[in-house]
Amino acid sequence: MGDDTVRWGFETRAIHAGQQPDPRTGSVIVPIYATSTFKQDGVGGVRDGGYEYSRTANPTRTALEDQLAALEGGRHGLVFASGMAASDIALRSITKPGDHVILGNDAYGGTFRLLDKVLTLWGVQYTSVNLSDVDAVRAAVEPNTKLIWCESPTNPLLGIADLAALASVAADAGARLVVDNTFATPYLQSPLGLGADVVLHSTTKYLGGHSDVVGGALITSDDELYEKFFFLRNAVGAVPSPFDSWLVLRGAKTLALRMERHSDNAERIVEALVGHPKVLKVYYPGLPDHPGHEIAAKQMRRFGGMVSVAVAGGEQVALDICSRTKLFILGESLGGVESLIEHPGRMTHASTTGSPLQIDGNVLRLSVGIEDATDLVADLLQAME
Ligand code: PLP
Repeated sequence: MGDDTVRWGFETRAIHAGQQPDPRTGSVIVPIYATSTFKQDGVGGVRDGGYEYSRTANPTRTALEDQLAALEGGRHGLVFASGMAASDIALRSITKPGDHVILGNDAYGGTFRLLDKVLTLWGVQYTSVNLSDVDAVRAAVEPNTKLIWCESPTNPLLGIADLAALASVAADAGARLVVDNTFATPYLQSPLGLGADVVLHSTTKYLGGHSDVVGGALITSDDELYEKFFFLRNAVGAVPSPFDSWLVLRGAKTLALRMERHSDNAERIVEALVGHPKVLKVYYPGLPDHPGHEIAAKQMRRFGGMVSVAVAGGEQVALDICSRTKLFILGESLGGVESLIEHPGRMTHASTTGSPLQIDGNVLRLSVGIEDATDLVADLLQAME
């Protein structure tokens, strides 16, 4: 980050960090550098700026990396072809065969699958625990624990972990803390400032914000980790295209405005669902009776746009509601301007079926968009009739 960037407010960083007008043409918007390779000044003579081949680095990608690093308050940003590619690079850079990882017991299903079905074959062991219970996390630390992998809020049950407390458990254990900040976004929560070593994003979600791109990011201030991430990403080639990088760069400019509206609309929906006769439980960290409410209020600016709900009557009722909404589109993913509804047990978290991370069949997850809140509430209520 440049010196100015450090002093700028969040919205200014989103629009200007890494995004100076193009020095050759004056283009205000960072161009999509659709090129695989760059002219060299003589054999081995890489030009100023250091670009030689787009798997290694590309200027559109650099702009996004600088923007995201500035938003998370980190020294380095790296972007990837997907959130899972970012997770894979982080896991395999921080651990080696024989190491142990602590994972939250309601982690995103894809993260669980990567650890359970891929990393274990490579010789990494893991324990899944309730990360909102700091004592349980401390008790799960083994002599070979190298990594605590945390989501807060979690996907899909909106559990809250005390990030500063987990950072101190990780530091005492000589382990790293990675925080998947996809649900909160850098606008609502700054894990690096609370002691995390690495922030991970599925930029597919709120950072991109328009459901038109798949991508991932890692942000860290640790030079050694950055070098490892950079090396492995270049070695395996898990990079986003210049166009995909540009879409996320453009989307993230309006993150602050969108997160305010997502949070406003989620609050309106929570208000309508709490106490509804067909609702057993609403999962939202903004509710005063949510077990993580106080910690969330301390470490988050607001409570975000994700809401989960357990409905009365079991799985079939939940499935019926999914088929009756008109504005809430039935679909995986989250964080776009349009509202989505999904059934985690059969969709995003199907890979956890039969494991301790399995989600109850009566749970629905809502990604509350930025439409008119009155319309969204009416849509949900008619679907629950
Ligand atoms: N982390 C969280 C919290 C997610 O919800 C997802 C995807 O849904 C991922 C990581 C993986 O990201 P991607 O789908 O971009 O690979």
